[in-house]
Amino acid sequence: MVLLQSLDALTQWQASMGWHEKVTGFVPTMGALHEGHASLIRLAKSQSELVVVSILVNPTQFNDAQDFETYPRTLEGDMDKAQEAGADAVFAPSAEALYGGKPQATAVHWGPLTHAYEGARRPGHFDGVVAVVDLLFQAVHPTLAVFGEKDLQQVGVIEKLAKDRHPGLKVVVAPLVREPSGLAMSSRNARLSAQGVSSALALHQALLAVQRGAMDGDVGRAVQAQREALRANPAVTLEYLDVLDALTFEPWSGGGQEARPYVVVAAEVEGVRLIDNMPLKA
Ligand code: AMP
Repeated sequence: MVLLQSLDALTQWQASMGWHEKVTGFVPTMGALHEGHASLIRLAKSQSELVVVSILVNPTQFNDAQDFETYPRTLEGDMDKAQEAGADAVFAPSAEALYGGKPQATAVHWGPLTHAYEGARRPGHFDGVVAVVDLLFQAVHPTLAVFGEKDLQQVGVIEKLAKDRHPGLKVVVAPLVREPSGLAMSSRNARLSAQGVSSALALHQALLAVQRGAMDGDVGRAVQAQREALRANPAVTLEYLDVLDALTFEPWSGGGQEARPYVVVAAEVEGVRLIDNMPLKA
């Protein structure tokens, strides 16, 4: 596996490998790779001949400067994990090289998809996601790109980006990977103490309870009860717990043959912002 740290190095490597004549997979990440990322790389490899994993802590998608500064950066360990999972190259350019100057993002308005939930809580976040993924798609030009359902709203945004600006590119969605405890894997979990990890399990418990409530036919009451439980938990600062339609990112209260209902949660534990989600089985 090779490490490519500039656009030129990427282009040269792609030419030497016959990239544009092959079925190629791409997995964009911000590094601090864990099993969740590894599962995406394995999925990409199972569907393509060559796989590039990008690693870039993208400044334009952070609305919180401290979150950006403290985001874990672990390139050497990431290289081992990427290789083990089947990557052929890690593309890790500087933000300035990728953006061709000062990293900047154009505002994107795609209704609730970019402006509800994560978009509302993290103003400008999806502008930055769209800017960096658009540039990465142009640079890497893959046959398919894999994204994790862990970032459910991001999947919707990327699907629209691909449809509008990268026709022909296949977006593959990978399931959310959890720790054996149930905690959703996240690079930010590294910033939690052992106590914080155990407090964060409350989020998974709340999602399970809402999923059970939906199966019992009273999702509204389950959401209400779990919001109250999380608000009463001193270790958790709840941002939202809601049931929405993953196709539109509008709240969902039942019905609709086409709807893809999910329960979603965002909360802070020990100052670390965590998100999680779970599909509701009818
Ligand atoms: P990130 O490095 O957090 O930007 O994530 C890079 C990709 O990995 C995104 O498509 C995420 O949705 C995905 N990802 C992160 N955590 C998980 C997880 N626990 N399970 C599945 N995919 C994940």
